Amino acid sequence: MKSVFYSRFFILLPWVLIVVIIIDIDTRRPSISNRVPTARHYSPYWKHRNGRAALMRPQPSDTSMASGTTNQEQLTSSDNQWAKNNSLPIIYAITPTYSRPVQKAELTRLANTFRQVPRLHWIVVEDSPHPTDLVSRFLSEASVRATHLHVPTPRRYKRSGLPRATEQRNAGLAWLRQKYQPKTSHHLQRSGAQPPVQQEYPAGVVFFADDDNTYSLELFQEMRTTQKVSVWPVGLVGGRRYERPVVENGKVVGWYTGWRADRPFAIDMAGFAVSLQVILSSPKAVFKRRGSQPGMQESDFLKQITTVQELEPKANNCTKVLVWHTRTEKVNLANEPKHPQDTIKIEV
Ligand code: UDP
Ligand code: MN
Repeated sequence: MKSVFYSRFFILLPWVLIVVIIIDIDTRRPSISNRVPTARHYSPYWKHRNGRAALMRPQPSDTSMASGTTNQEQLTSSDNQWAKNNSLPIIYAITPTYSRPVQKAELTRLANTFRQVPRLHWIVVEDSPHPTDLVSRFLSEASVRATHLHVPTPRRYKRSGLPRATEQRNAGLAWLRQKYQPKTSHHLQRSGAQPPVQQEYPAGVVFFADDDNTYSLELFQEMRTTQKVSVWPVGLVGGRRYERPVVENGKVVGWYTGWRADRPFAIDMAGFAVSLQVILSSPKAVFKRRGSQPGMQESDFLKQITTVQELEPKANNCTKVLVWHTRTEKVNLANEPKHPQDTIKIEV
């Protein structure tokens, strides 16, 4: 009797295991709507480096998140508000960010500003090999329409004196270019036809918003009318109270700056915005590591897409400071215990 039971058990066991495995695979498969670049954690660099077409990178941490937050599109408090303003150009703010004691405080300050800006889509790019729980949770509760990307800075570039967040800003650009990739391009390429020279894209503006700067709401009103590339003054930068493009007869003719005035575009990352049309129609324009001297990121990027003559001065012909290159002091954690002493663990 016992041996009959065991023989049946061992015959059935492999089948039971196969069924369990199939059920498990099926429940892990992302739903159709999540498979395209609207995946929550999408890293263009992941695809690039590993040759993997899969855009979804579900992380173990994802399972801890409340349902309804699995899609990357974190919505503004009212979706109606987004739809109601649909004649306004979208502002895409690309924010590189990295883990450090002040990170959540910085992101909170930014979210409090961005939440008040109509039609703003926040592209947060973590300098990290994986999306962190802190930023994932933060964005799911921020009430700002957001996309959460991540790409680590290679270790060799994490040195003082080298430009920061190059890979992260490029990841933001790559996400936009992928999102607005012409749907017919594969088809056209296969059939040998030339894609249209000037594709029409939705009205939009791209802006690089570092996580530690301070942004006035007026700044977004100004940049929203950008036709190609617009510029404005930046406060507390370059060793001066402010830097600004010098404007004569509505055109930029030079730069008021305390640092390397010989730069073709002597402007900080916070001092310009680029239309989505320009970003998409110059797909090769990226922030460069190779050949880029310290402090030349902005100039090297702008050189690829515009000329000084075509810059559009904003903020009353570049006479108003609407953004400040504030820098947060390194926090003093001298009294932080080496091992946890509190009875609970708190995210800061
Ligand atoms: N950043 C980053 N990884 C780093 C250092 C900086 O992603 O290793 C981000 C940072 O969060 C900020 C931007 O890059 O959004 C610019 O960095 P930071 O403010 O330190 O540069 P600074 O203002 O001194 O030029
Ligand atoms: Mn900064």
